Amino acid sequence: MLVSAKEMLDKAKAGHYAVGQFNINNLEWTKAVLKTAQELNSPVILGVSEGAGKYMCGFKTVADMVKAMIESLNITVPVALHLDHGTYDGAKACIEAGFSSIMFDGSHYSIDENIEKTRELVATSHAKGISIEAEVGSIGGEEDGVVGMGEVADPDECKMIADLGVDMLAAGIGNIHGKYPENWPGLRFDALDAIQQKTGAMPLVLHGGTGIPADMIKKAISLGVSKINVNTECQLSFAAATRKYIEEGKDLQGKGFDPRKLLAPGFDAICATIKEKMELFGSVDKA
Ligand SMILES: [Zn+2]
Repeated sequence: MLVSAKEMLDKAKAGHYAVGQFNINNLEWTKAVLKTAQELNSPVILGVSEGAGKYMCGFKTVADMVKAMIESLNITVPVALHLDHGTYDGAKACIEAGFSSIMFDGSHYSIDENIEKTRELVATSHAKGISIEAEVGSIGGEEDGVVGMGEVADPDECKMIADLGVDMLAAGIGNIHGKYPENWPGLRFDALDAIQQKTGAMPLVLHGGTGIPADMIKKAISLGVSKINVNTECQLSFAAATRKYIEEGKDLQGKGFDPRKLLAPGFDAICATIKEKMELFGSVDKA
């Protein structure tokens, strides 16, 4: 069922595990996330960037597809449909389109402007029972053409944003979108610890979950991370499985060119990646 992310994340924070956010790109991706979550009896968050929303013909198409799929696949685990790194206008559009959760990424504004816009969107989203994520300190790497420098969030600014009543808070702690470089120094657990001490029960969000070693993920969860975003890793496993199918010449055998056959190995690969992450995050059987 489609729900806001608030309850599942409050439960995750209290239970010391994390709920995965898996970004979707099309019908196959959405089906893979929903079916795997149901199979593992895990809560789940579907992430949609503004670029992916545009690619899928707009936020309303996405929301209607997800709602219809939840119904036709008999998905009973809690599912949140969440805007990832939303702009102010994108967040408002998703509230209208039927999303159950939004992220407003005001990290590139001054802290005062971030606070002002986040405050307004908290009121608008909560009036409709929609959960909201805010961000302090930009995450490194590239997302939809925007390259962030990978700041470490200021714990006092995190508290100011948390006090606005957001449901989850993304704070930069040296994490990066996409693949991590060889010389990456790792997560700043000292900063995460300081942020958790200032923000208390607030579920914290770790962006850029692809390629962070399992022991760092577990330590981050122990320090208050309750939502972990995974995007690139599913793309990599989908691409590798599709490449293998083509390189083995399977599209040239029989009706191997049928898109339902051609996309099947990639679909299975996404399911396997999601399963691995849900087991690592501890969300299996937490629906
Ligand atoms: Zn992110």
